[in-house]
Amino acid sequence: MAGSSPSAPASPTRTPKPGNVKDVDWYTSRLPVFGPLPEPEPVDVDHGPESPVWKKVPTDQNVAFLTIDDGALRHPMALPLLKASGVRVTLFLTINYVQKYPDYFKALQAAGAVIENHTFTHTDLRGKSVAFQHHEICDAADRLGQIFGRRPTLFRPPFGDYDDNTLKIAHSCGQKVVLYWSETVDKGIVRYQIADHRILPGHIVLMHFRPAYGDDFLAALTRMKASGVQPALLEDYIKGACDDSCNE
Ligand SMILES: [Zn+2]
Repeated sequence: MAGSSPSAPASPTRTPKPGNVKDVDWYTSRLPVFGPLPEPEPVDVDHGPESPVWKKVPTDQNVAFLTIDDGALRHPMALPLLKASGVRVTLFLTINYVQKYPDYFKALQAAGAVIENHTFTHTDLRGKSVAFQHHEICDAADRLGQIFGRRPTLFRPPFGDYDDNTLKIAHSCGQKVVLYWSETVDKGIVRYQIADHRILPGHIVLMHFRPAYGDDFLAALTRMKASGVQPALLEDYIKGACDDSCNE
């Protein structure tokens, strides 16, 4: 982590200011600028008894998707950076982390974020009973709808772990796609799952509400820009995921 050297001489003429303070302005001044988005071509996922699992969105358009999970930490930069970036993001929120702080997440929602489903308790669902999974998936969707005014249509299982029941139960209560991811971002570093270190069309980037939120958000968008893809809204690429409910 960069910081001012403790041995640096203090200026006698002005208040010393640490040279590397990364405040909101530092981040917003570095956000990449993207051009207009293409008209999305939503994918029809309403067939079969299970919701599909996506590691990436099956599209050839030059778009990628930023998703932000959990909500365990309410970072003060999330709202100003979202507004300054002009991008749309999808938040997969865990009810036990967020339900006492709806206003924080409603402000992000008002700035263009769409809130989706990441269970009540963030428990690994693999091998859990149908009743348990139904509560964590379907009752959670209902509850998120009560809190945020829109019932989620997408589900991300905690840790990305699921079994056959997860996919059937998600489908049974309108969770149209079970989302995995293509890249992760942590501490400002994008980790790729392919040797070609680019964010490719359709890729889904995962970050979290963590202390390095500013670094992660900036890294995700900077790498998208360098990769030649534009950040688009995930729900716009899934038929019926949004209708008008994602657009304020
Ligand atoms: Zn999570």
